[in-house]
Amino acid sequence: MPVYTQHAPDPHTWYSLAAQAERSAGVVSSHPAMSSCSRVALVTGANKGVGFAIARALCRLFSGDVVLTARDEARGRAAVQQLQAEGLSPRLHQLDITDLQSIRALRDFLRREYGGLDVLVNNAAIYMENPKVVDTTPFHIKAEVTMKTNFDGTRDVCTELLPLMRPRGRVVNVSSLMCLRALKSCSPELQHKFRSETITEEELVGLMKKFVGDAKKGVHQKEGWPDTAYGVTKMGITVLSRIQARHLSEQRGGDKILLNACCPGWVRTDMGGPDATKRPEEGAETPRVLGPFASRCRGPSWTVCHGQKS
Ligand code: NAP
Repeated sequence: MPVYTQHAPDPHTWYSLAAQAERSAGVVSSHPAMSSCSRVALVTGANKGVGFAIARALCRLFSGDVVLTARDEARGRAAVQQLQAEGLSPRLHQLDITDLQSIRALRDFLRREYGGLDVLVNNAAIYMENPKVVDTTPFHIKAEVTMKTNFDGTRDVCTELLPLMRPRGRVVNVSSLMCLRALKSCSPELQHKFRSETITEEELVGLMKKFVGDAKKGVHQKEGWPDTAYGVTKMGITVLSRIQARHLSEQRGGDKILLNACCPGWVRTDMGGPDATKRPEEGAETPRVLGPFASRCRGPSWTVCHGQKS
């Protein structure tokens, strides 16, 4: 499977998402208190940047409730107020993806209020290697902290929330093209492991742990790793997505849940910086398309894996 190649969502995916978009047409935003049969979409790290733009797009187009999550409640409230000023009605829930208690509180909220989940966008991430920012934090600390958020945090969210996904649900893991650069800079042995069709989640977690351990010992490059913590964590997210898609196929094939990883492109956010080529709304297009909507996206959609096709 050409996992690390650039391509648009296949026609099958486009078709199924277009059909769903049609069903959603004309329905705008959400209500603060809904019954358990409401459909629900959730975005992590949605108080700013690409996540905020995805939440806004979902509020406009998704036929159900949209839960905007933020690790800091005040920042989350400000984001919700901004969308409310635009006539939209997201719900707010606190979520720090590095805090298992916070993830489980969100899981319990979703179970209680909705009995499941229809769209999950794993967007939250950090980047500590901006060459334009003077940062003297040692590499091994950056590796540990970035791994804790980008890989461990996203994985924990998936572990708790994927079992809630309803039939025909959509999961989008926001990765990065940086994962390709990181992969190409890995030793042939590591590349072979990451490209394996049969790699297990445990093996992948072991590799991510080894990277952090090697960085701590100052031997990560000698051990065949690239010199980018962010790139390695996003490589982890991409490979994790392939594993999750495989599991969904094997264990819930009939439910036709689609799980993808994607890159939003280079986006003008706090992470991407002011020179980036895309506006946040443009960066939100691919994750949005791989969620429940297909209409009018002409951008270079880059998906790194496909789960089941419906
Ligand atoms: P951003 O502007 O820095 O926003 C990141 C979001 O993630 C913020 O809401 C942040 O919350 C949240 N976050 C960070 N740590 C968190 C945690 N522990 N728990 C919950 N939320 C947390 O970044 P962005 O540019 O929008 O990036 C969004 C996604 O696109 C990321 O996955 C990123 O890797 C990917 N991406 C971005 C670019 C780009 O050019 N911008 C390129 C490729 C991929 P706070 O406000 O509280 O910090």
